[in-house]
Amino acid sequence: MNTPDKKCAQCEGTSFAQGSDYINIRPLDKKYTIGSEKIYTFCLDCGEVLSIKISNPSKFKAWVF
Ligand SMILES: [Zn+2]
Repeated sequence: MNTPDKKCAQCEGTSFAQGSDYINIRPLDKKYTIGSEKIYTFCLDCGEVLSIKISNPSKFKAWVF
């Protein structure tokens, strides 16, 4: 994982990891759609989450608003 200029807003730590809870996020009102997993980037020192990313945002193209 290449995160050269990231810094934790809470503890100023610079070590991060990424993980997923493997729970898919789905379009609103479409709970039977497969959707996409979320990827969390978080501080290894204090656990602060820097970002939450949708791993396959293109799956939501049918629900652009
Ligand atoms: Zn931190």
